[in-house]
Amino acid sequence: MEIINRRQRMASVARKLRREEDKTIGLVPTMGALHDGHLSLVREARRMCDVVIVSVFVNPTQFGAGEDFERYPRDLTGDTTKLADYNVDYIFAPPVEEVYPKGFATYITVEGLSETMEGAARPGHFRGVATILTVLFNTVRPDFAFFGQKDAQQTLVVKRLVRDLAFDLEVVVLPTVREQSGLALSSRNAYLTDEQHRAAAVLYRALAQAREVYMEGERNARRLAEAVRAQVDAEPLARLEYVGVVDAESMEKYDRIPEERPVLIALAAQVGRTRLIDNIIIQPARQKARTTSEP
Ligand code: AMP
Repeated sequence: MEIINRRQRMASVARKLRREEDKTIGLVPTMGALHDGHLSLVREARRMCDVVIVSVFVNPTQFGAGEDFERYPRDLTGDTTKLADYNVDYIFAPPVEEVYPKGFATYITVEGLSETMEGAARPGHFRGVATILTVLFNTVRPDFAFFGQKDAQQTLVVKRLVRDLAFDLEVVVLPTVREQSGLALSSRNAYLTDEQHRAAAVLYRALAQAREVYMEGERNARRLAEAVRAQVDAEPLARLEYVGVVDAESMEKYDRIPEERPVLIALAAQVGRTRLIDNIIIQPARQKARTTSEP
């Protein structure tokens, strides 16, 4: 395993692998402080691709003013040990000025999808995400790029970016890895005290409760959102920032959820001073099995 810090070196290594060795390349973009959620992406990349490249870069352009860019957990040594266990081929860990050299002036905006929920709560966030991914995709030129369902809106933004700008790669989205309590793994969980950590499990409980309500036949989006809010409000250490009930593919807002559409329920909440996000996707109910014999 080699750690690469320079964009040019990363590009030339990847070019050689592609051209001379005809290897398929999998890229797993991360901001480091790796946990089992990240590692589930790495495992799948290892299974699907000849060469696995994990980028570790805390991307300043996706953080807003007053957010946690400076104190975001960084542990390249620990990350390196974990990635070695997974037989990763390259870690791409550039310094900020390597990605954003003096005079950097080009940003990518995915319109529409970037403007609601996380995009509304964190203006400029998805512009930063789309920009760094464009730099990474152009540097590495992966065949596959791996993302977690944990960041549901991000997966939709990335798919649209790839489609609209004709990147020649496939986006692979993998399920959210959770603790026993249901809490989604996140690098930001490290900020939580033990008490807050226990309290944070309410977020998944609230989403699971909304799923129950849906299963019982509720299709009114506002009432599903209220089911989430009621649960989170019952936990004194948590404060719901938003909950969205939208189409899982288009992010279209519904009053009433159509039977045949998958629905995304996504939320952000503060637990103490820590901002956490989570979501679930409810797939449309299968057609009832036929009870009569086939004609
Ligand atoms: P981050 O380091 O937070 O930017 O995350 C890097 C990638 O890991 C993103 O595609 C995330 O969606 C994914 N990821 C983060 N947490 C989880 C999790 N609990 N389960 C699955 N994927 C995750």
